[in-house]
Amino acid sequence: MPVMSSDDFTVHDDDCDEVGDGMPISDLPDEVNSIEDLDCQCWNKYSSVDEI
Ligand SMILES: [Zn+2]
Repeated sequence: MPVMSSDDFTVHDDDCDEVGDGMPISDLPDEVNSIEDLDCQCWNKYSSVDEI
């Protein structure tokens, strides 16, 4: 499940070390249409957002 950081509102995978204090979200934000929209390296293990 994706987690949104409460510090900077970036979205991370739930096992990411960089998210710190975050809030689980059931769906990715509407502005995220592809893996390239997610900046963190924790998403590198996915090849498309459909796998998240
Ligand atoms: Zn991350």
